[in-house]
Amino acid sequence: MAITILEHCTGCGACVAACRFDALTLETEYPEGFGQKMAVIDRERCCVCNECLSACRYWAITSEIL
Ligand code: SF4
Ligand code: SF4
Repeated sequence: MAITILEHCTGCGACVAACRFDALTLETEYPEGFGQKMAVIDRERCCVCNECLSACRYWAITSEIL
């Protein structure tokens, strides 16, 4: 299983605050965007606890089987 951030992430930061493992940051921008940040996941830190899924009100995080 792995967490994926989808392109419609608004960069609100709610998932970053919800992650107890410091696996999420707001540190990159959309390649085609206008300076808007989005969440980026560090899969080395992520334990797939799925806490961030419920924290995201925009349904911009998925948990899927790789
Ligand atoms: S699944 Fe858990 S550990 Fe992974 S990014 Fe989300 S809140 Fe953090
Ligand atoms: S993934 Fe969801 S909660 Fe996290 S920054 Fe993007 S919109 Fe906000």
